[in-house]
Amino acid sequence: MSVKSSQTWYEATAPAREVAAPLRGVDACDVCIIGGGLAGITTARELQRRGRIVVLLETKRIAWAASGRNGGFVGNGFAAGIAEIIERVGLKNTQALYRLSAHGTEYIRREIARLDASIRMGDGWIVAQRINDPAGARRRQEMMLRDFGEGLEVLSTEQTRALLHTERYFQSLKNPHSFIIHPLRYAQALADDARHGGVKIYENAAALSVREAGSGFIVRTAHAEVHAQHVVHCVSSLDRRIHDLSCRAVLPVATYVAVTEPLKQDAIRTRCGIGDMRRAGDYYRLITDDRLLWGGRITTRVSAPL
Ligand SMILES: Cc1cc2nc3c(=O)[nH]c(=O)nc-3n(C[C@H](O)[C@H](O)[C@H](O)COP(=O)(O)OP(=O)(O)OC[C@H]3O[C@@H](n4cnc5c(N)ncnc54)[C@H](O)[C@@H]3O)c2cc1C
Repeated sequence: MSVKSSQTWYEATAPAREVAAPLRGVDACDVCIIGGGLAGITTARELQRRGRIVVLLETKRIAWAASGRNGGFVGNGFAAGIAEIIERVGLKNTQALYRLSAHGTEYIRREIARLDASIRMGDGWIVAQRINDPAGARRRQEMMLRDFGEGLEVLSTEQTRALLHTERYFQSLKNPHSFIIHPLRYAQALADDARHGGVKIYENAAALSVREAGSGFIVRTAHAEVHAQHVVHCVSSLDRRIHDLSCRAVLPVATYVAVTEPLKQDAIRTRCGIGDMRRAGDYYRLITDDRLLWGGRITTRVSAPL
């Protein structure tokens, strides 16, 4: 399999798709979703399942942004560490948030099993310690079980190094319930399913403005209008003006994922995802043809994905 320089590895390994027809004239619906990433597609699909007439507008292509080019790690929790969240909102609220994230994990697990099991690329997430602290690993294991019902396995230094051939790592914590997906194929499968269910998806259809009209809204694109009772904004940080309130609440950040050529190596002997508690939060995993997918680092110096 070869990857063209204009493509991501995910694009090179996803089925070719036709871009949806452009929207012209006037369309009407109960709910207009703006943004065709995972947030928009999932919302559209769930509203359609509950009987709403839904139109989704996407500036470029479905999941061209973060949703189709992320690390593909699916598991309970958040990008911020659990201790940091507890400090900010307290244990009870953190537990409620954690349950919400577990609901999201189960949603993806269930939908992939239903739509196309081959979207799932692997199982398990290992966080390796760069210091020799067996008691710390046990404490974290106990805390995650007691406070969040999460059953983690502690791997000894020997077990860790048998999987990851380096003396930098000592003990590790493995979450066997996390899993790894092909994010672009997942988003596309979800969008296809939504479309079959009746969601009208328009690509190359940037929403330019939203204005109130009667009891609803009119969403304008370059060549069309959508009349909707409700509008859901799912634009992440990619549109800084379409909805003032939510745009001001979002801090745009950039982070990266890089994929190597196929490697001949014996250092990584597991298909689990791996993170290693470095401050920069790097993570990596082997992918299909023994390439290494490596991601991490977050900066507020954003630039558009190439
Ligand atoms: C490099 C990287 C790695 C990541 N790794 C992971 C991971 O391993 N696990 C994990 O859980 N999360 C990961 N994430 C985070 C995850 O990808 C995002 O949280 C998620 O994809 C956000 O989905 P979204 O739909 O909100 O946004 P996006 O995927 O950014 O989609 C927003 C969409 O809105 C569209 N849009 C914007 N403005 C308009 C407009 N005016 N009209 C029409 N459409 C518009 C955009 O074109 C875009 O398609 C990663 C993110 C990045 C960047």
